[in-house]
This record gives sequence, structure tokens and C-alpha cells, in this order.
Amino acid sequence: MRFPAPLVTLIRELGRLPGIGPKSAQRLAFHLFNRSDADVEALARALLEAKRGLDRCPRCAHVKETSAALCAICDDPRRDASLLCVVEQPADVLAIERSGEYAGRYHVLHGVLSPMHGVGPEELTLDLLWSRFEGQGVEELVLATSTTVEGEATAMYLARAAQERGVRTSRIAYGLPVGGDLEYADEVTLGRAIAHRRPV
Ligand SMILES: [Zn+2]
Repeated sequence: MRFPAPLVTLIRELGRLPGIGPKSAQRLAFHLFNRSDADVEALARALLEAKRGLDRCPRCAHVKETSAALCAICDDPRRDASLLCVVEQPADVLAIERSGEYAGRYHVLHGVLSPMHGVGPEELTLDLLWSRFEGQGVEELVLATSTTVEGEATAMYLARAAQERGVRTSRIAYGLPVGGDLEYADEVTLGRAIAHRRPV
């Protein structure tokens, strides 16, 4: 059986979202079909308003409201301007903020270096990053890219490039999940936790 054209379009568009496979897209499409007109209109409006009302911060590339000059973090004078934490995505900023352990500023790359997927330094917000070393008082770059192969390669690249500019770099520590048993940790995590042990 062939689906009606509007349904095919909806499934195709939903399927382009990250983490949504063809089956999930189909399930979501049928779910939306069964919701009230008001519910679907509210969702459509929220999508459009978020797209129109949000923009990249011209300083750190994090999300900001279109009407604001800078994002809330760049705009906060209490943040430590000497620390710059480099992350892959805006969601990573929120994750680190939730930890409550970091008082510096951020820089969002919007991706990682990935030669396989055609992502080179030009595709990331690196020009913006290096421009921040002029007159913004940055002393240390905290590399908080993910621990995937690409995240590690990106951190290495940034560390080298920062050294050439005379900027100190650090990498967030690898560790064991709090409350977890050692015997359930995978060997890479456990190996790194031992290699990066610190005095107590
Ligand atoms: Zn910002």
C-alpha cells in the first residue's frame, strides 16, 4: 500500500532529524495525525518561532535570542573571561552548566573535525575562536570535545593550534561514573581513569 503524499512528505522530513530512523519517523507521523489541530498547530508554531527567535552568539557561537546582542553567558560580567571551554554543541554548554563546576566562558564549534564526512577546520567556528585571543583576556582553553575518535582528534588539533598562539590548554578528565562499580566499567574508561589519576 502506498501512503498519501502529505504523509510521505511528513515521514521524510521527520526522518531527517538526528536519531530518528524510518520506523520512528513513521510512528511520529501517525501520532501527529491523531493529535488535535490545536496541538499540531502549537508544535508547528513552536518550531517556526524557535527558528526565527534564535540565533548564534557572535562571540561564542552558542544559542542566543535574536533580539539580544550576545548570549546570556557572554553577557554575564561575573563569568571568568580567562577560561574558555570549547565544546561541540550548544547542548554541551547546558550539560556543563548543570554541573555547576565551571565559571568561565564557552566556545561552541558546531561539530568536530571529520575528514571522513568532509568536515575540515573551515566548517567549524575556528576563525571566531582564534579571534577571541585578541583583547578578550583568554588564558586557558579547556578542551571539552567528546571522547570519540573525532572528538579526541579535534582536541589534539586545537591543543596544537593554541600552543602556536601561546595559549595554555587543558583537557577535561576522563573518569568513572559516580556511584558505579569498577567491575562494570569498560576497559578503556578504566584504563584512562588510572592513567589520569591524581594525588589525594
Ligand atoms: Zn556567547
